[in-house]
Amino acid sequence: MKSVRSADAGNVAHSVQRVLRAPAYADQERQRVAGIVGNMLRVLFVVICVTLVVQFAISGLASGMFGLVASAAWVLGLLTLLRRGYVQATALLLILNLMLLVNVSSIGYGGIQSPTVSANLLVILMAIMLIPPRRVLIVAILVIACLVAVYWIDVSGLDQTLPFPQTPNTPEMALMTHIAHLLGAGYFLYLAVNGLTQAIHRARAEERRANELLEQAQAARSVAEQAHQAKVQFLANMSHELRTPLNAVIGYSEMLLEDGETHDELQRIHGAGTHLLGLISDILDLSKIESGRMLLDIQEFSPKQLAEQALADVHDLVDQTGIELRLELVGEVSDDAFTILADRLRVHQILRNLLDNAAKFTDRGYIDLIVRPDEETSGHLVFCVRDTGIGIATDVMRRIFEPFYQVDGSSTRLRGGTGLGLGLSRALAEMMGAKLSVVSRLGEGSAFSLYLPKTPPLTSETDSAVAPASE
Ligand code: ADP
Repeated sequence: MKSVRSADAGNVAHSVQRVLRAPAYADQERQRVAGIVGNMLRVLFVVICVTLVVQFAISGLASGMFGLVASAAWVLGLLTLLRRGYVQATALLLILNLMLLVNVSSIGYGGIQSPTVSANLLVILMAIMLIPPRRVLIVAILVIACLVAVYWIDVSGLDQTLPFPQTPNTPEMALMTHIAHLLGAGYFLYLAVNGLTQAIHRARAEERRANELLEQAQAARSVAEQAHQAKVQFLANMSHELRTPLNAVIGYSEMLLEDGETHDELQRIHGAGTHLLGLISDILDLSKIESGRMLLDIQEFSPKQLAEQALADVHDLVDQTGIELRLELVGEVSDDAFTILADRLRVHQILRNLLDNAAKFTDRGYIDLIVRPDEETSGHLVFCVRDTGIGIATDVMRRIFEPFYQVDGSSTRLRGGTGLGLGLSRALAEMMGAKLSVVSRLGEGSAFSLYLPKTPPLTSETDSAVAPASE
């Protein structure tokens, strides 16, 4: 029987201990408020318990003890609420509790002239530390209402008829009250200074962490830059190493073809070699642009002649298919003497890419190359390659300019390609201050337009990338 009772007492002690333990929150502000409220409640609980023991020792089981036991239970209840995570609600209840205590004791001890009235200031201080400003305002209004109520109860003589005990107004009581206020104010001051110091420590720790992260990011960036440079160098070396034997293969097959050899295999070797060389050149160009080592060769040339040459280059691709290749030159462009200043080789490369794609993705109809002055900006020419091919779906239209991106469709796979052409074309266009855009409708065809300045724009970026015109 005895052991059962001691086990029960052990359980109760364990539960009380658990309730008294400080809760932990991830949110720093919540943790701060919970810490202060928890500390106050724990101090209050200990004070009540000590008073209870002292009172029991002095007067045995007196009627006043019931109030103390109820207070201890109330404080434990608030601690449980706090542990459940109701931090703000507990803080508010604690503040209201203190406000009630201060004003009821003022009524019982000297009314509006009581020294305990000034403890209302502690209530407001506590509100400022624990709850958001809007609620502090509400607490301040309640405090003023309490002061008015205490004054009214005092002057109306109602305090004499109230059921709680009137404390005798003695100098000793006044001394005790002032000491209590001093202790209370000191505790709040300690909390405020402590909070400030912790905030400074937190700020310093965060600054240190930010600096560390910055250093790590800088180190990672430098490693990434080195890796990028290594990749660019590797691509350049590889492309060079591959091009040399390939040129030999293409050269020899060309010589044999010129000598009158007509084997199909020879044609295939020559075709495959030329295709591979094109791919390697594209990869090399892309890596040069990425590393900022691509130079432009600006020279004067006739856009009419360039357009005619680009069309002639793709003629073989559509020869057997019945697709019509058409050239349209508008306004000043149709004049043989009209010239512009740009990198002829790169403009030709872009047009070839666009025309190759048009030929690849068109089964019937026509392919138009239209060259015209730009109606909106007179300083630009528009090279437009328009086809009646398979078209491009709206949702992938922006992605087709990403390097290596190909529209995922069986028709695209069948037609081959690497997904490099448009990415490279757009990068080259941007280097020349030009813009490459597309309009397309699935199943109806596409129109790619290059908006090229008639003279290169004078920006510091292009200046550095432009090499002197070759002779
Ligand atoms: P590649 O042609 O080598 O696949 P590109 O970068 O030139 O690579 O083109 C990317 C993708 O854009 C192509 O795979 C194709 O799906 C789409 N595309 C490009 N031009 C056309 C066109 N004229 N008509 C339809 N689709 C096109």
